Amino acid sequence: MTERLAADAAGIARAAALLGAGGLVAFATETVYGLGADATNAAAVAAIYEAKGRPRFNPLISHVPDADAAFRHALADSRAERAAAAFWPGPLTLVLPRRDESDIAALATAGLDSLAVRVPGHPVARALLAAVGRPVAAPSANLSGRLSPTRPAHVLAGLEGRIAGILESGSCAVGLESTILDLTGPHATILRPGGIAREAMEAVIGPVDLAGGSGDDVKAPGMLASHYAPVLSLRLGAAAPEADEAWLGFGPVPGAAAVARNLSPAGDLVEAAARLFDALHELDDAAIAAGLVRIAVAPVPARGLGIAINDRLARAAAPRGGAQSTFR
Ligand code: AMP
Ligand code: MG
Repeated sequence: MTERLAADAAGIARAAALLGAGGLVAFATETVYGLGADATNAAAVAAIYEAKGRPRFNPLISHVPDADAAFRHALADSRAERAAAAFWPGPLTLVLPRRDESDIAALATAGLDSLAVRVPGHPVARALLAAVGRPVAAPSANLSGRLSPTRPAHVLAGLEGRIAGILESGSCAVGLESTILDLTGPHATILRPGGIAREAMEAVIGPVDLAGGSGDDVKAPGMLASHYAPVLSLRLGAAAPEADEAWLGFGPVPGAAAVARNLSPAGDLVEAAARLFDALHELDDAAIAAGLVRIAVAPVPARGLGIAINDRLARAAAPRGGAQSTFR
């Protein structure tokens, strides 16, 4: 059952409570309806991918009520401060270095050490974010591959029964998605064109590059460079680890490995998705420290979230520079 909530004080309080309890809630921003989850709760973030039927773990935008909150999770330089002062709240997403102390789940950034943050301008979104008091990860509230939703009916057509609630507040004003500006390097780069034009941005922070691609199908050099992959190579679909391998398990453990993690001993795909990036990071470090050469990975069933898990594992296992070019 999806609770249909009015965008008044009671509805916003209920939506914040659902989010705080790990539920998914759709809410309007000035661009499109977003599908929100507590960004600090890895299982809630995993549930976003499951509800959308997304075949890949692309990094999500974390929504916060103001620039102070954004810069508690990400490092701002003077360009970020100027862009924030000029365009927040509004349809601008900044990609910044993530702070080590941020408690945003690794799954929300797809394991990257950068963070995409946004302060939306829609009054309902702002009230909700203030009430939640935590960053809210939110991609568009549609099934994967469908059009971005600008009305509650669009959201319900795809997600009714799959999400805990929707805050209904009419149609979105911009309809375009947010402009994504990458400030992790020396050259400010627009990764996705959107509600704020490049010229308007350049008037505030100086020259801005435009990466190739658009929409969800971004294939930008800046994004490929920051694509997370473990240092060690992976051996997928392994029945058991060899002597020189660390072990990434799923389900029952086949034998002892000196360095091992289990995505989900119970074989739960949502739990496995929630742990995936932390497990890869931890195994990589521990395996290298132990002098191991590879990470053997147990088979993960190709259904539900297993599809996105296998996609990420396959790209992490592929020779560097090849299969990583299909970032999405
Ligand atoms: P959507 O959720 O559909 O609005 O898309 C979010 C998009 O933001 C992703 O597909 C990426 O293009 C971009 N993005 C989010 N986080 C990052 C990040 N840490 N680094 C680079 N791009 C990001
Ligand atoms: Mg989308």
